[in-house]
Amino acid sequence: MARKPIKRNSSFPPQNNQSMYVGVFLLIVLLGTLLVLQFTSQPGEKTLTYSQFLGQVTNGNVALVRIEGQVIQGEFKNRVENASRFVTILPLMDEELLPLLKQAGVEIIGEKVKEQSGWSLTWMIVGGLLLVAFLLFVMRGAQGGDSSRAFTFSKSRARLHRENTNKIRFSDVAGCEEAKQDLQEVVEFLKRPEKFNAIGARIPKGVLLVGSPGTGKTLLAKAVAGEARVPFFSVSGSEFVEMFVGVGAARVRDLFSEARKHAPCIVFIDELDAVGRSRGAGLGGSHDEREQTLNQILVEMDGFDSSEGLIILAATNRPDILDPALLRPGRFDRQVVVDKPDVKAREAILKIHTRKVPLADDVDLSIIARGTPGFTGADLENLVNEAALNAARNNRKKVTMEDLEFAKDKVSLGPERRSLVLSEEDKWMTAYHEAGHAILGHILPLNDPVHKVTIIPRGQALGITYHLPEVEKRSIVKEEALQNIIMAMGGRAAEELKFGKDYISSGASSDIDHVTRFVRTMVCEWGMSEVLGPVRYGETEGPVFLGKDLVTRKNFSEKIHELIDEEVQKIIAQCYSEAIKLLKKHEKKLDLLAKTLIEKEVLTADDLKELLGEAPKKQFPRLELIKKELEHPAQA
Ligand code: ADP
Ligand code: MG
Ligand code: ZN
Repeated sequence: MARKPIKRNSSFPPQNNQSMYVGVFLLIVLLGTLLVLQFTSQPGEKTLTYSQFLGQVTNGNVALVRIEGQVIQGEFKNRVENASRFVTILPLMDEELLPLLKQAGVEIIGEKVKEQSGWSLTWMIVGGLLLVAFLLFVMRGAQGGDSSRAFTFSKSRARLHRENTNKIRFSDVAGCEEAKQDLQEVVEFLKRPEKFNAIGARIPKGVLLVGSPGTGKTLLAKAVAGEARVPFFSVSGSEFVEMFVGVGAARVRDLFSEARKHAPCIVFIDELDAVGRSRGAGLGGSHDEREQTLNQILVEMDGFDSSEGLIILAATNRPDILDPALLRPGRFDRQVVVDKPDVKAREAILKIHTRKVPLADDVDLSIIARGTPGFTGADLENLVNEAALNAARNNRKKVTMEDLEFAKDKVSLGPERRSLVLSEEDKWMTAYHEAGHAILGHILPLNDPVHKVTIIPRGQALGITYHLPEVEKRSIVKEEALQNIIMAMGGRAAEELKFGKDYISSGASSDIDHVTRFVRTMVCEWGMSEVLGPVRYGETEGPVFLGKDLVTRKNFSEKIHELIDEEVQKIIAQCYSEAIKLLKKHEKKLDLLAKTLIEKEVLTADDLKELLGEAPKKQFPRLELIKKELEHPAQA
């Protein structure tokens, strides 16, 4: 069998500095290994190179090998230079070795790799030396001097997307029309900078995309590059932040010098807040490093002229914590807000992501869009994927409405927990609880229609009643708010009605939590309490959107505080007794619903209609009157 020549690295000697350093590094490792071997080889044992070893095998002079990881020890048939045994190192995986050994009739012994105390000390010394050498390289690289650019530490890790590989266009981004309009200008400029330069229009250097995670900021930035057909450098703010001081700044320098070579182009810094936090804030740690990096970004942004055709896009979901210096004119002076999609945008996003998914005829994306308020583009993409997975799991060729509904629940509430076995009591309790919500949701005209009721546990919940808003609402009237509360109390009310005051369950905790907040908002923000009047109690600090942890400052007296608590309690108590009253009146229906839920576990809107009859129409009592009067003014 012919032995193949050892493959040579095609670019030897290395063409550039970088691979030379890697080469040097590998050489050190190799020498170290040989050194170790020299130390550990016993008298009468010969150290062979791997090629020499293969030579001995093909010559039929090897009787036995003992393979332990990369170390191969063995015995010669005939002594070689007075040695009866040998040792060699397997350089890499060699798939041809075993067949070769077998063919040569060598006895093969495999050994488990074990720690050898004699070795480990030597290894530790060699390893320690190598580590020191390595660190020296890195530190020198980090200083950023030209001659010492070791490895790639000071290189920016920005990924370059060439103009011809980026296929993303504005048409792939649904919704966020305002953002697209704003960015259209950037596209225009990148396409025809001379048009703008000719009339001396100043083009923004930096545009900051602001919005919650998953709303499509990255996608928009890519679309801008795609539309303008220019290269696109993308880097995440967190990639600038490294352990070693100076690395981040060096990377920024590298990124900008690289980008200039490719102008016109776009540099996109994702998660700008990772480096762009206000200086002097933040605690300890790599704080100096971040500050240097941020300073370098500021310097670079000041240092170029936007007529060069370089535009910096950045994205963040925390514009409030950014260093003000970043937002000054000449830097990210333009902000584009990317909102969470509304119902129309959600439908459009679903359409985009189902382009490549075969849909069954029963699929109506508008229903899914209506049932997913608060979902971001990323959530919707995830929903479509989950639906496709579910269809595949069930061996369906097309994605059905059922798959989409399933995926919606999974994405919004976590996976079903069918394996969670409920006790008999828990089951009945949950059935009555959900039936209570469902009935009140159904018969109270201002509530959104009940879409589905289930007692299959999901995420943290044991059962769920879903509602489907018919139109996206921007405001809510008091009567509607009250009916919402009555419905939300329906679960607890049904428990009390059927099982007695002493057997109510903890299952109502999230309802209670929700209602308490809701009523507090009614009283303190919406001015819906007659006792307290249209006054705002409490001031919200910080950004009104995006922030999760808003702080409310108390700006009222103790006396008002007590009044608020009383009022909240009173409203909830009234709604609760109203819920009890209504459920008593419809107790037969409540029983029927609970029993059917135990049997079927899931009830759809159609099932409910069958069991409870048609839901009453929404009404806005005086509106019709007003309209009539305006059309036919009563004779005075
Ligand atoms: P962000 O950067 O704001 O966190 P991304 O741009 O990374 O969000 O969005 C994640 C994914 O969600 C995208 O790749 C895209 O598939 C989907 N997505 C988000 N918003 C939209 C949208 N408006 N239209 C279409 N797809 C979207
Ligand atoms: Mg992103
Ligand atoms: Zn409930």
